[in-house]
Amino acid sequence: MKITKIETHVCNARMRNWVFVKVLTDQPGLHGWGEATLEWHTRGVVGAIEDLAELVVGEDVRRIEHLWQMMYRQHFWHGNGIVRSTAISGIDIALWDIAGKIANMPCCQLWGGRVRDWVRTYCHLGGGRMEDFYETPIEDARRFGELAQQAVADGYTAFKSMAVPPTMPLEGLRPIKRAEAAVAAMRDAVGPDIDIMVDCHARPSPTMGLQFGKALEPFGLYFFEEPCWPESIDGLAMINAAITTPVATGERITDLAYFRELFARRGCEVCQMDIAHCGGLTAARRIAALADSYRIALAPHNPQGPVSTAASLEFGFSQPSYIICETVHADVPWRTDVVSEGFVIDPKGRIVHPNTRPGLGIEINEAEVARHPFQPELPQRVFYRDGSVGDW
Ligand SMILES: [Mg+2]
Repeated sequence: MKITKIETHVCNARMRNWVFVKVLTDQPGLHGWGEATLEWHTRGVVGAIEDLAELVVGEDVRRIEHLWQMMYRQHFWHGNGIVRSTAISGIDIALWDIAGKIANMPCCQLWGGRVRDWVRTYCHLGGGRMEDFYETPIEDARRFGELAQQAVADGYTAFKSMAVPPTMPLEGLRPIKRAEAAVAAMRDAVGPDIDIMVDCHARPSPTMGLQFGKALEPFGLYFFEEPCWPESIDGLAMINAAITTPVATGERITDLAYFRELFARRGCEVCQMDIAHCGGLTAARRIAALADSYRIALAPHNPQGPVSTAASLEFGFSQPSYIICETVHADVPWRTDVVSEGFVIDPKGRIVHPNTRPGLGIEINEAEVARHPFQPELPQRVFYRDGSVGDW
């Protein structure tokens, strides 16, 4: 059972180009799907997958760990830079899809079987529509409230917002008060039974992240995401220790040793490794084991396309500490035309019932993908009021 070819199928979904990875084998009809979406780095990732294909084409498709070791360690440069790591992830996810198809069982069955009956999901404000989620002005608290109500009307019991504005390393009360008003409007709109998350996108410095965290504490956020740069484990640990709201981070981390440091210094309560970036399902399972030893919850980052979602769900069905699946459903209206899925989403509560098909249970409609060819991602540049560079 040899790998014969690795293809990339790029699908422009407005804000992101979904990079679908198809691993083909010498067995008739046996192929797997992965995803290596990395916004603003699409061409780099596609090239990195071409480079990796030279290592793994001709190899036995069943030796996933061996292939992962080759992709990560061979050709001298370790695979923990974001581009290479994402490329490895896309191939690794496809290899697990194939393993499930060979065994004729869903992937989670390969990892010890289902640990839960269903997986909870959350959405972005606006369902992931770029303008609603990323571009609602922080001054417009009323709009945050409306979008929050819409998420609940769509059946969600949890949603995420970007209610912390780009902030210079030190600012006064202004951004804090605006964030407070936006979160207050959302809480007022949905009441206490709905879980609200705030993603800071690592915009604040540690000291500003702490101020936002303290100000938002009374609203009982489900988690408080990337309150400062992921590079600053000290900053994350300081904030996490100072507030009762659980800090979440991990989407930009691609190195197992870095996760160990983050957990050992208690930089978070929720680990958001991205299965499409961290080295795939092989690496995600290792990170999860580390997180378990610190009783840190798992909520993988997933604003990406449908293969990444299927991978996160299958992983979630196998991981006791997995709490919720991030989903985007309204980024493009033709999302569901691109994929056929093996799981069922209950519109009431937006919980997901298990995949009943082998592997990840998905099939990509290549003709539909071809209708949305690569386009450069829309720029999302941030500058502070004085013209200096800020974090998106
Ligand atoms: Mg985030």
